[in-house]
Amino acid sequence: MEPSSAPNSCVLTTGSGVPTGDKLNVLTMGPRGPLLLQDSVFLDEMAHFDRERIPERVVHAKGAGAFGYFEVTHDITKYTKAKVFESIGKKTDIGIRFSTVAGEAGSADTVRDPRGFAVKFYTDEGIWDLVGNNTPIFFIRDPILFPSFIHSQKRNPQTHLKDPDMVWDFWSLRPESLHQVMFLFSDRGIPDGHRFMNGYGSHTFKLVNAKGEAVYCKFHYKTNQGIKNLTVEEADRLVVQDPDYGIRDLFQAIAKKDFPSWTLYIQVMTFQQAEKCPFNPFDLTKVWPHKDYPLIPAGKLVLNRNPNNYFAEIEQIAFDPSNMPPGIEPSPDKMLQGRLFSYPDTHRHRLGANYLHLPVNCPRRVAHVSNYQQDGPMCLFSAPCNSPNYYPNSFTSPRDNCKHKEKTHSMSGDIDRHDSSTEDNVSQARTFYKQTLSEAERQRLCENLARHLKEAQTFIQERAVKNFRDVDPEFGKRIQTLLDKHNKADGKKEPLHCYTRCLS
Ligand code: NDP
Repeated sequence: MEPSSAPNSCVLTTGSGVPTGDKLNVLTMGPRGPLLLQDSVFLDEMAHFDRERIPERVVHAKGAGAFGYFEVTHDITKYTKAKVFESIGKKTDIGIRFSTVAGEAGSADTVRDPRGFAVKFYTDEGIWDLVGNNTPIFFIRDPILFPSFIHSQKRNPQTHLKDPDMVWDFWSLRPESLHQVMFLFSDRGIPDGHRFMNGYGSHTFKLVNAKGEAVYCKFHYKTNQGIKNLTVEEADRLVVQDPDYGIRDLFQAIAKKDFPSWTLYIQVMTFQQAEKCPFNPFDLTKVWPHKDYPLIPAGKLVLNRNPNNYFAEIEQIAFDPSNMPPGIEPSPDKMLQGRLFSYPDTHRHRLGANYLHLPVNCPRRVAHVSNYQQDGPMCLFSAPCNSPNYYPNSFTSPRDNCKHKEKTHSMSGDIDRHDSSTEDNVSQARTFYKQTLSEAERQRLCENLARHLKEAQTFIQERAVKNFRDVDPEFGKRIQTLLDKHNKADGKKEPLHCYTRCLS
Protein backbone atom coordinates (compact mmCIF):
# COMPACT_ATOMS: atom_id res chain seq x y z
CA MET A 1 0.00 0.00 0.00
CA GLU A 2 1.37 3.43 -0.86
CA PRO A 3 1.93 5.69 2.17
CA SER A 4 -0.50 8.38 0.97
CA SER A 5 -3.33 5.91 0.39
CA ALA A 6 -3.13 4.37 3.87
CA PRO A 7 -6.50 4.69 5.69
CA ASN A 8 -4.86 6.51 8.62
CA SER A 9 -2.68 8.70 6.36
CA CYS A 10 -3.35 11.77 8.50
CA VAL A 11 -1.72 10.05 11.49
CA LEU A 12 2.07 10.15 11.57
CA THR A 13 3.62 6.73 11.35
CA THR A 14 7.07 5.19 11.37
CA GLY A 15 8.35 3.76 8.10
CA SER A 16 6.82 0.45 9.11
CA GLY A 17 3.38 2.07 9.44
CA VAL A 18 3.17 2.04 13.24
CA PRO A 19 1.24 5.13 14.48
CA THR A 20 3.44 7.68 16.25
CA GLY A 21 2.32 9.13 19.58
CA ASP A 22 4.91 11.94 19.88
CA LYS A 23 7.21 13.12 17.08
CA LEU A 24 8.39 16.25 18.87
CA ASN A 25 10.27 14.82 21.86
CA VAL A 26 12.84 12.03 22.14
CA LEU A 27 12.42 9.29 24.75
CA THR A 28 14.75 10.02 27.70
CA MET A 29 15.48 8.89 31.25
CA GLY A 30 14.38 12.03 33.08
CA PRO A 31 13.80 15.41 31.47
CA ARG A 32 17.55 16.03 30.88
CA GLY A 33 18.40 12.70 29.28
CA PRO A 34 20.17 10.45 28.43
CA LEU A 35 18.34 8.98 25.40
CA LEU A 36 17.07 5.42 25.34
CA LEU A 37 18.03 2.95 22.64
CA GLN A 38 14.43 1.74 22.63
CA ASP A 39 13.23 5.02 21.05
CA SER A 40 12.31 3.39 17.76
CA VAL A 41 10.55 6.55 16.53
CA PHE A 42 13.81 8.51 16.83
CA LEU A 43 15.97 5.67 15.45
CA ASP A 44 13.64 5.17 12.48
CA GLU A 45 13.77 8.91 11.73
CA MET A 46 17.55 9.28 12.04
CA ALA A 47 18.49 6.03 10.32
CA HIS A 48 16.44 6.96 7.28
CA PHE A 49 17.71 10.53 7.27
CA ASP A 50 21.32 9.24 7.36
CA ARG A 51 20.59 7.40 4.12
CA GLU A 52 18.76 10.14 2.20
CA ARG A 53 21.59 10.79 -0.22
CA ILE A 54 22.47 8.34 -2.93
CA PRO A 55 25.74 8.73 -4.84
CA GLU A 56 25.67 11.78 -7.06
CA ARG A 57 25.92 11.11 -10.79
CA VAL A 58 29.63 11.36 -11.61
CA VAL A 59 28.66 13.44 -14.65
CA HIS A 60 25.40 15.32 -15.30
CA ALA A 61 24.78 15.67 -11.54
CA LYS A 62 22.75 18.91 -11.77
CA GLY A 63 19.54 18.56 -13.69
CA ALA A 64 15.90 19.33 -14.28
CA GLY A 65 13.27 17.01 -15.65
CA ALA A 66 9.69 16.73 -16.82
CA PHE A 67 7.25 14.38 -18.48
CA GLY A 68 5.03 14.45 -21.54
CA TYR A 69 4.54 12.66 -24.80
CA PHE A 70 6.05 11.99 -28.20
CA GLU A 71 3.69 12.11 -31.17
CA VAL A 72 4.45 10.78 -34.63
CA THR A 73 3.79 13.47 -37.26
CA HIS A 74 5.49 11.95 -40.31
CA ASP A 75 5.80 8.40 -41.58
CA ILE A 76 9.35 7.00 -41.23
CA THR A 77 8.30 3.32 -41.28
CA LYS A 78 10.29 2.81 -44.49
CA TYR A 79 13.37 3.22 -42.26
CA THR A 80 12.33 1.60 -38.98
CA LYS A 81 9.90 -0.99 -37.68
CA ALA A 82 10.11 0.45 -34.13
CA LYS A 83 6.51 0.60 -32.94
CA VAL A 84 7.06 4.02 -31.41
CA PHE A 85 7.01 5.30 -35.04
CA GLU A 86 4.34 2.88 -36.37
CA SER A 87 1.58 5.35 -37.33
CA ILE A 88 1.02 9.06 -37.67
CA GLY A 89 -0.73 10.39 -34.57
CA LYS A 90 0.59 7.65 -32.26
CA LYS A 91 1.54 9.04 -28.86
CA THR A 92 4.10 7.58 -26.44
CA ASP A 93 4.79 8.75 -22.89
CA ILE A 94 8.22 10.30 -22.37
CA GLY A 95 10.41 11.52 -19.50
CA ILE A 96 13.22 14.03 -20.06
CA ARG A 97 16.18 15.13 -17.99
CA PHE A 98 18.26 18.18 -18.90
CA SER A 99 21.54 18.75 -17.11
CA THR A 100 24.93 20.36 -17.03
CA VAL A 101 27.91 17.99 -17.24
CA ALA A 102 30.81 18.84 -14.98
CA GLY A 103 29.27 20.60 -11.96
CA GLU A 104 28.06 19.00 -8.77
CA ALA A 105 24.36 18.66 -7.85
CA GLY A 106 24.42 22.09 -6.18
CA SER A 107 26.27 23.91 -8.95
CA ALA A 108 24.84 26.77 -11.01
CA ASP A 109 22.68 26.15 -14.09
CA THR A 110 24.09 29.01 -16.18
CA VAL A 111 27.71 27.94 -16.53
CA ARG A 112 29.40 27.30 -19.88
CA ASP A 113 29.10 23.54 -20.20
CA PRO A 114 27.42 21.15 -22.63
CA ARG A 115 23.85 20.30 -21.61
CA GLY A 116 22.60 16.75 -21.30
CA PHE A 117 19.36 16.12 -23.22
CA ALA A 118 18.20 12.62 -22.25
CA VAL A 119 14.81 11.28 -23.35
CA LYS A 120 13.10 8.13 -22.07
CA PHE A 121 10.35 6.78 -24.34
CA TYR A 122 7.99 4.34 -22.56
CA THR A 123 7.25 2.36 -25.74
CA ASP A 124 5.02 -0.69 -26.28
CA GLU A 125 8.23 -2.66 -26.84
CA GLY A 126 10.03 -1.55 -23.70
CA ILE A 127 12.14 1.45 -22.87
CA TRP A 128 13.94 3.44 -25.55
CA ASP A 129 16.47 5.85 -24.06
CA LEU A 130 17.96 8.40 -26.44
CA VAL A 131 20.66 9.85 -24.20
CA GLY A 132 22.11 12.85 -25.97
CA ASN A 133 23.32 16.40 -25.51
CA ASN A 134 22.52 19.88 -26.82
CA THR A 135 25.34 19.45 -29.34
CA PRO A 136 25.50 16.97 -32.22
CA ILE A 137 29.16 16.18 -31.45
CA PHE A 138 31.46 15.44 -28.52
CA PHE A 139 35.03 16.13 -27.34
CA ILE A 140 36.48 12.66 -27.95
CA ARG A 141 35.94 9.74 -30.28
CA ASP A 142 37.48 6.91 -28.23
CA PRO A 143 35.65 5.99 -25.00
CA ILE A 144 38.83 4.91 -23.21
CA LEU A 145 39.54 8.64 -22.82
CA PHE A 146 36.21 9.40 -21.17
CA PRO A 147 37.21 9.08 -17.48
CA SER A 148 40.32 11.22 -18.04
CA PHE A 149 38.36 13.79 -20.02
CA ILE A 150 35.85 14.11 -17.17
CA HIS A 151 38.59 14.23 -14.51
CA SER A 152 40.14 17.15 -16.40
CA GLN A 153 36.84 19.07 -16.24
CA LYS A 154 36.19 18.43 -12.55
CA ARG A 155 38.06 19.43 -9.41
CA ASN A 156 41.79 19.01 -8.94
CA PRO A 157 42.18 16.11 -6.48
CA GLN A 158 44.61 18.07 -4.28
CA THR A 159 43.37 21.67 -4.37
CA HIS A 160 39.69 20.72 -4.84
CA LEU A 161 39.51 23.62 -7.30
CA LYS A 162 38.50 23.66 -10.95
CA ASP A 163 41.84 23.80 -12.73
CA PRO A 164 42.25 25.51 -16.14
CA ASP A 165 45.60 23.74 -16.58
CA MET A 166 43.84 20.37 -16.42
CA VAL A 167 41.07 21.48 -18.79
CA TRP A 168 43.36 22.96 -21.45
CA ASP A 169 46.15 20.41 -21.02
CA PHE A 170 43.73 17.64 -21.96
CA TRP A 171 41.95 19.55 -24.74
CA SER A 172 45.19 20.75 -26.34
CA LEU A 173 46.73 17.27 -26.21
CA ARG A 174 43.64 15.86 -27.96
CA PRO A 175 42.84 18.06 -30.99
CA GLU A 176 39.81 15.94 -31.85
CA SER A 177 38.15 18.03 -29.13
CA LEU A 178 38.49 21.23 -31.24
CA HIS A 179 35.09 21.08 -32.93
CA GLN A 180 33.19 20.61 -29.66
CA VAL A 181 35.37 23.12 -27.79
CA MET A 182 34.39 25.68 -30.44
CA PHE A 183 30.67 24.87 -30.03
CA LEU A 184 31.10 25.17 -26.26
CA PHE A 185 32.71 28.62 -26.41
CA SER A 186 30.27 29.88 -29.05
CA ASP A 187 27.02 31.60 -28.09
CA ARG A 188 25.27 28.25 -27.77
CA GLY A 189 27.64 27.30 -24.92
CA ILE A 190 25.31 28.99 -22.38
CA PRO A 191 21.68 28.23 -23.33
CA ASP A 192 18.94 30.35 -21.81
CA GLY A 193 17.56 27.58 -19.61
CA HIS A 194 16.60 24.22 -21.06
CA ARG A 195 13.65 25.12 -23.26
CA PHE A 196 15.50 27.20 -25.82
CA MET A 197 18.09 24.71 -27.01
CA ASN A 198 18.17 21.90 -29.53
CA GLY A 199 18.88 18.31 -28.55
CA TYR A 200 20.74 15.64 -30.47
CA GLY A 201 21.02 11.88 -30.13
CA SER A 202 24.59 12.77 -31.15
CA HIS A 203 25.69 9.20 -31.94
CA THR A 204 25.12 7.37 -35.18
CA PHE A 205 22.46 4.66 -34.81
CA LYS A 206 21.10 2.01 -37.13
CA LEU A 207 17.43 1.82 -38.15
CA VAL A 208 15.95 -1.45 -39.39
CA ASN A 209 12.59 -1.66 -41.21
CA ALA A 210 10.03 -4.49 -41.30
CA LYS A 211 11.74 -6.00 -44.37
CA GLY A 212 15.04 -6.21 -42.50
CA GLU A 213 16.60 -3.35 -44.50
CA ALA A 214 18.91 -1.08 -42.53
CA VAL A 215 20.26 2.46 -42.74
CA TYR A 216 22.42 4.53 -40.40
CA CYS A 217 20.70 7.42 -38.67
CA LYS A 218 21.15 10.48 -36.47
CA PHE A 219 18.43 12.06 -34.30
CA HIS A 220 17.87 15.82 -33.88
CA TYR A 221 15.38 17.62 -31.66
CA LYS A 222 14.83 21.23 -32.75
CA THR A 223 13.34 23.51 -30.15
CA ASN A 224 10.00 25.01 -31.14
CA GLN A 225 10.67 27.86 -28.69
CA GLY A 226 13.58 29.03 -30.86
CA ILE A 227 17.25 29.05 -29.83
CA LYS A 228 18.00 31.53 -27.03
CA ASN A 229 21.32 31.91 -25.29
CA LEU A 230 22.56 33.97 -22.35
CA THR A 231 25.33 36.51 -22.69
CA VAL A 232 28.37 35.93 -20.50
CA GLU A 233 27.32 38.88 -18.32
CA GLU A 234 23.73 37.62 -17.86
CA ALA A 235 24.95 34.12 -17.10
CA ASP A 236 27.47 35.36 -14.51
CA ARG A 237 24.78 37.45 -12.84
CA LEU A 238 22.45 34.45 -12.64
CA VAL A 239 25.15 32.23 -11.12
CA VAL A 240 24.90 34.49 -8.07
CA GLN A 241 21.24 35.54 -8.18
CA ASP A 242 19.51 32.36 -9.34
CA PRO A 243 21.81 29.33 -9.59
CA ASP A 244 18.73 27.13 -10.22
CA TYR A 245 17.59 29.25 -13.18
CA GLY A 246 17.23 26.29 -15.54
CA ILE A 247 15.20 24.16 -13.14
CA ARG A 248 12.99 27.13 -12.25
CA ASP A 249 12.36 28.19 -15.84
CA LEU A 250 11.29 24.70 -16.93
CA PHE A 251 9.11 24.06 -13.87
CA GLN A 252 7.40 27.46 -14.08
CA ALA A 253 6.68 27.18 -17.80
CA ILE A 254 5.03 23.78 -17.39
CA ALA A 255 3.14 24.90 -14.27
CA LYS A 256 1.77 27.84 -16.32
CA LYS A 257 0.79 25.39 -19.09
CA ASP A 258 3.30 26.97 -21.47
CA PHE A 259 4.33 23.50 -22.58
CA PRO A 260 7.71 23.38 -24.34
CA SER A 261 8.05 21.23 -27.44
CA TRP A 262 10.66 20.04 -29.87
CA THR A 263 10.40 18.64 -33.40
CA LEU A 264 12.17 15.34 -33.93
CA TYR A 265 14.08 14.88 -37.18
CA ILE A 266 16.27 12.08 -38.43
CA GLN A 267 19.18 12.11 -40.85
CA VAL A 268 19.67 8.94 -42.86
CA MET A 269 22.81 7.49 -44.47
CA THR A 270 22.74 4.25 -46.46
CA PHE A 271 25.40 1.60 -45.91
CA GLN A 272 26.75 2.36 -49.41
CA GLN A 273 26.98 6.07 -48.59
CA ALA A 274 28.75 5.21 -45.33
CA GLU A 275 31.42 3.24 -47.19
CA LYS A 276 32.14 6.15 -49.54
CA CYS A 277 31.75 8.91 -46.94
CA PRO A 278 34.86 11.14 -46.94
CA PHE A 279 34.83 11.19 -43.12
CA ASN A 280 34.16 8.46 -40.59
CA PRO A 281 30.35 8.60 -40.13
CA PHE A 282 30.71 6.83 -36.77
CA ASP A 283 33.03 9.51 -35.38
CA LEU A 284 31.25 11.45 -32.62
CA THR A 285 33.37 14.56 -33.24
CA LYS A 286 31.74 14.99 -36.69
CA VAL A 287 28.32 16.13 -37.89
CA TRP A 288 26.64 14.82 -41.01
CA PRO A 289 26.33 17.90 -43.26
CA HIS A 290 22.68 18.85 -43.63
CA LYS A 291 22.93 19.45 -47.37
CA ASP A 292 24.15 15.88 -47.98
CA TYR A 293 21.95 14.24 -45.35
CA PRO A 294 18.82 16.43 -45.06
CA LEU A 295 16.71 16.49 -41.93
CA ILE A 296 13.62 14.29 -42.23
CA PRO A 297 10.75 15.20 -39.87
CA ALA A 298 9.39 12.40 -37.69
CA GLY A 299 7.45 13.76 -34.74
CA LYS A 300 7.22 16.12 -31.82
CA LEU A 301 8.01 15.98 -28.12
CA VAL A 302 5.80 17.90 -25.69
CA LEU A 303 6.51 18.35 -21.97
CA ASN A 304 3.26 18.86 -20.04
CA ARG A 305 3.85 17.46 -16.53
CA ASN A 306 6.23 18.46 -13.79
CA PRO A 307 7.56 15.77 -11.47
CA ASN A 308 5.47 15.12 -8.36
CA ASN A 309 8.63 14.34 -6.40
CA TYR A 310 12.04 15.43 -7.68
CA PHE A 311 14.01 12.64 -6.01
CA ALA A 312 11.68 9.80 -6.99
CA GLU A 313 11.23 10.85 -10.60
CA ILE A 314 14.26 12.93 -11.65
CA GLU A 315 17.13 12.02 -9.35
CA GLN A 316 16.29 8.34 -9.79
CA ILE A 317 15.51 8.42 -13.50
CA ALA A 318 18.19 6.28 -15.14
CA PHE A 319 18.92 6.57 -18.86
CA ASP A 320 20.72 3.78 -20.68
CA PRO A 321 21.65 4.08 -24.37
CA SER A 322 21.53 0.29 -24.65
CA ASN A 323 17.74 0.44 -24.14
CA MET A 324 16.65 0.22 -27.79
CA PRO A 325 13.46 -1.42 -29.07
CA PRO A 326 13.50 -3.63 -32.19
CA GLY A 327 14.07 -1.40 -35.24
CA ILE A 328 16.69 0.79 -33.54
CA GLU A 329 20.19 -0.63 -33.10
CA PRO A 330 23.69 0.59 -32.32
CA SER A 331 26.17 1.51 -35.04
CA PRO A 332 29.92 0.86 -34.68
CA ASP A 333 30.32 4.38 -33.14
CA LYS A 334 33.00 3.66 -30.52
CA MET A 335 31.68 6.24 -28.06
CA LEU A 336 28.18 4.75 -28.26
CA GLN A 337 29.59 1.27 -27.77
CA GLY A 338 31.45 2.45 -24.65
CA ARG A 339 28.30 4.06 -23.26
CA LEU A 340 26.27 0.88 -23.84
CA PHE A 341 28.34 -0.56 -20.99
CA SER A 342 29.02 2.39 -18.74
CA TYR A 343 25.49 3.79 -18.32
CA PRO A 344 23.75 0.67 -16.97
CA ASP A 345 26.92 -0.05 -14.98
CA THR A 346 26.75 3.29 -13.21
CA HIS A 347 23.02 2.85 -12.48
CA ARG A 348 23.69 -0.52 -10.88
CA HIS A 349 26.23 1.21 -8.64
CA ARG A 350 24.16 4.35 -7.93
CA LEU A 351 20.66 2.90 -7.64
CA GLY A 352 21.21 -0.84 -7.27
CA ALA A 353 20.83 -3.91 -9.44
CA ASN A 354 17.04 -3.55 -9.55
CA TYR A 355 16.94 0.09 -10.66
CA LEU A 356 14.58 -0.90 -13.50
CA HIS A 357 11.96 -1.79 -10.87
CA LEU A 358 11.63 1.86 -9.83
CA PRO A 359 8.38 3.32 -11.20
CA VAL A 360 10.15 6.01 -13.26
CA ASN A 361 12.43 3.46 -14.94
CA CYS A 362 9.98 0.61 -15.28
CA PRO A 363 8.83 -0.26 -18.85
CA ARG A 364 5.25 0.60 -17.96
CA ARG A 365 3.72 -0.05 -21.41
CA VAL A 366 4.95 -3.64 -21.43
CA ALA A 367 2.35 -5.93 -19.81
CA HIS A 368 4.94 -8.22 -18.22
CA VAL A 369 8.70 -7.92 -18.00
CA SER A 370 9.45 -11.57 -18.63
CA ASN A 371 12.92 -12.85 -17.91
CA TYR A 372 14.76 -15.17 -15.57
CA GLN A 373 16.49 -12.51 -13.48
CA GLN A 374 15.73 -12.66 -9.79
CA ASP A 375 16.59 -11.32 -6.34
CA GLY A 376 19.12 -8.62 -5.54
CA PRO A 377 18.64 -5.58 -3.30
CA MET A 378 15.22 -3.90 -3.32
CA CYS A 379 13.67 -6.52 -5.58
CA LEU A 380 10.05 -5.59 -6.33
CA PHE A 381 9.29 -8.20 -8.97
CA SER A 382 10.40 -11.76 -9.51
CA ALA A 383 9.56 -14.60 -11.86
CA PRO A 384 6.02 -15.93 -11.31
CA CYS A 385 5.96 -18.97 -9.03
CA ASN A 386 4.19 -21.09 -11.70
CA SER A 387 7.18 -20.78 -14.01
CA PRO A 388 10.79 -22.04 -13.77
CA ASN A 389 13.63 -19.60 -12.99
CA TYR A 390 16.02 -21.05 -15.60
CA TYR A 391 16.10 -21.18 -19.41
CA PRO A 392 15.77 -23.29 -21.51
CA ASN A 393 13.18 -25.38 -19.71
CA SER A 394 10.45 -27.88 -20.56
CA PHE A 395 7.51 -25.91 -19.18
CA THR A 396 5.22 -23.07 -20.16
CA SER A 397 7.36 -19.98 -19.65
CA PRO A 398 8.64 -16.93 -21.56
CA ARG A 399 10.38 -17.88 -24.82
CA ASP A 400 12.61 -15.87 -27.14
CA ASN A 401 11.33 -15.19 -30.64
CA CYS A 402 13.66 -14.88 -33.64
CA LYS A 403 11.51 -12.15 -35.15
CA HIS A 404 13.06 -9.79 -32.60
CA LYS A 405 16.68 -10.71 -33.47
CA GLU A 406 19.09 -7.90 -34.31
CA LYS A 407 19.92 -7.41 -37.97
CA THR A 408 22.87 -9.49 -39.13
CA HIS A 409 25.82 -7.20 -39.68
CA SER A 410 29.00 -8.33 -41.46
CA MET A 411 32.24 -6.74 -40.40
CA SER A 412 35.93 -7.44 -40.90
CA GLY A 413 39.10 -5.83 -39.67
CA ASP A 414 42.18 -6.28 -37.55
CA ILE A 415 41.70 -6.46 -33.83
CA ASP A 416 44.00 -3.73 -32.56
CA ARG A 417 44.04 -0.60 -30.42
CA HIS A 418 43.58 1.60 -33.51
CA ASP A 419 44.96 5.11 -33.02
CA SER A 420 42.26 7.60 -34.08
CA SER A 421 44.06 10.74 -32.85
CA THR A 422 45.42 11.65 -36.28
CA GLU A 423 42.09 11.44 -38.12
CA ASP A 424 40.83 14.74 -39.57
CA ASN A 425 40.30 16.96 -36.53
CA VAL A 426 39.94 20.33 -38.22
CA SER A 427 37.85 20.33 -41.45
CA GLN A 428 34.43 20.59 -39.83
CA ALA A 429 35.77 22.93 -37.15
CA ARG A 430 37.01 25.14 -40.03
CA THR A 431 33.58 25.06 -41.76
CA PHE A 432 31.98 26.00 -38.47
CA TYR A 433 34.35 28.94 -37.97
CA LYS A 434 34.42 30.26 -41.49
CA GLN A 435 30.93 29.49 -42.81
CA THR A 436 28.47 28.81 -39.99
CA LEU A 437 29.37 31.68 -37.67
CA SER A 438 28.84 35.36 -38.45
CA GLU A 439 31.70 37.82 -37.88
CA ALA A 440 30.16 38.98 -34.59
CA GLU A 441 29.81 35.32 -33.44
CA ARG A 442 33.44 34.63 -34.43
CA GLN A 443 34.64 37.56 -32.35
CA ARG A 444 32.64 36.42 -29.30
CA LEU A 445 33.95 32.86 -29.75
CA CYS A 446 37.55 34.14 -29.70
CA GLU A 447 36.91 36.36 -26.69
CA ASN A 448 35.25 33.53 -24.75
CA LEU A 449 38.12 31.18 -25.57
CA ALA A 450 40.84 33.68 -24.65
CA ARG A 451 39.12 34.62 -21.38
CA HIS A 452 39.19 30.97 -20.26
CA LEU A 453 42.50 29.91 -21.79
CA LYS A 454 44.39 32.82 -20.17
CA GLU A 455 44.09 30.99 -16.84
CA ALA A 456 46.26 28.10 -18.08
CA GLN A 457 50.06 28.11 -18.06
CA THR A 458 51.82 29.64 -21.06
CA PHE A 459 53.10 26.40 -22.58
CA ILE A 460 49.55 25.00 -22.53
CA GLN A 461 48.20 28.23 -24.06
CA GLU A 462 50.76 27.91 -26.86
CA ARG A 463 49.77 24.33 -27.65
CA ALA A 464 46.08 25.26 -27.69
CA VAL A 465 46.68 28.24 -29.99
CA LYS A 466 48.66 26.04 -32.38
CA ASN A 467 45.59 23.81 -32.67
CA PHE A 468 43.33 26.81 -33.33
CA ARG A 469 45.82 27.94 -35.99
CA ASP A 470 45.49 24.51 -37.62
CA VAL A 471 41.75 25.14 -37.88
CA ASP A 472 42.38 28.53 -39.49
CA PRO A 473 45.49 30.76 -39.20
CA GLU A 474 43.38 33.89 -38.70
CA PHE A 475 41.42 32.16 -35.89
CA GLY A 476 44.64 31.24 -34.06
CA LYS A 477 46.08 34.70 -34.57
CA ARG A 478 42.97 36.40 -33.23
CA ILE A 479 43.02 34.29 -30.06
CA GLN A 480 46.77 34.88 -29.58
CA THR A 481 46.28 38.65 -29.86
CA LEU A 482 43.57 38.56 -27.19
CA LEU A 483 45.69 36.27 -24.99
CA ASP A 484 48.68 38.61 -25.28
CA LYS A 485 46.55 41.45 -23.94
CA HIS A 486 45.29 39.34 -21.02
CA ASN A 487 48.75 37.97 -20.24
CA LYS A 488 50.25 41.45 -20.23
CA ALA A 489 47.56 42.70 -17.87
CA ASP A 490 47.55 39.67 -15.55
CA GLY A 491 51.28 38.77 -15.42
CA LYS A 492 52.80 35.27 -15.20
CA LYS A 493 50.51 32.36 -14.24
CA GLU A 494 51.57 30.35 -11.19
CA PRO A 495 49.60 27.10 -11.03
CA LEU A 496 48.31 25.93 -7.67
CA HIS A 497 48.89 22.27 -8.48
CA CYS A 498 52.32 20.74 -7.93
CA TYR A 499 52.64 18.63 -11.10
CA THR A 500 56.12 18.40 -12.60
CA ARG A 501 56.17 19.12 -16.31
CA CYS A 502 57.27 16.25 -18.54
CA LEU A 503 59.65 17.74 -21.11
CA SER A 504 60.12 14.71 -23.40
P1 NDP B 1 24.51 23.49 -42.47
O1 NDP B 1 24.43 24.89 -42.92
O2 NDP B 1 23.64 22.51 -43.09
O3 NDP B 1 24.31 23.44 -40.90
C1 NDP B 1 24.75 24.47 -40.11
C2 NDP B 1 24.21 24.13 -38.78
O4 NDP B 1 25.03 24.75 -37.85
C3 NDP B 1 22.85 24.69 -38.50
O5 NDP B 1 21.84 23.92 -39.03
C4 NDP B 1 22.85 24.72 -37.01
O6 NDP B 1 22.53 23.47 -36.48
C5 NDP B 1 24.29 24.91 -36.68
N1 NDP B 1 24.58 26.22 -36.18
C6 NDP B 1 24.20 27.38 -36.70
N2 NDP B 1 24.67 28.38 -35.94
C7 NDP B 1 25.36 27.80 -34.93
C8 NDP B 1 26.07 28.30 -33.83
N3 NDP B 1 26.17 29.62 -33.60
N4 NDP B 1 26.64 27.45 -33.00
C9 NDP B 1 26.53 26.12 -33.19
N5 NDP B 1 25.88 25.57 -34.24
C10 NDP B 1 25.31 26.42 -35.08
O7 NDP B 1 25.96 23.08 -42.64
P2 NDP B 1 26.63 21.69 -42.37
O8 NDP B 1 25.63 20.67 -41.97
O9 NDP B 1 27.51 21.43 -43.52
O10 NDP B 1 27.49 22.03 -41.14
C11 NDP B 1 28.43 23.08 -41.20
C12 NDP B 1 29.00 23.21 -39.86
O11 NDP B 1 27.93 23.61 -39.02
C13 NDP B 1 29.52 21.92 -39.28
O12 NDP B 1 30.87 21.70 -39.52
C14 NDP B 1 29.27 22.09 -37.85
O13 NDP B 1 30.38 22.69 -37.25
C15 NDP B 1 28.11 23.01 -37.78
N6 NDP B 1 26.92 22.31 -37.35
C16 NDP B 1 26.29 21.37 -38.12
C17 NDP B 1 25.25 20.65 -37.62
C18 NDP B 1 24.66 19.52 -38.37
O14 NDP B 1 23.98 18.70 -37.75
N7 NDP B 1 24.88 19.44 -39.65
C19 NDP B 1 24.69 20.94 -36.31
C20 NDP B 1 25.41 21.94 -35.61
C21 NDP B 1 26.47 22.58 -36.14
P3 NDP B 1 21.09 23.10 -35.99
O15 NDP B 1 20.24 23.17 -37.23
O16 NDP B 1 21.22 21.72 -35.48
O17 NDP B 1 20.69 24.11 -34.99
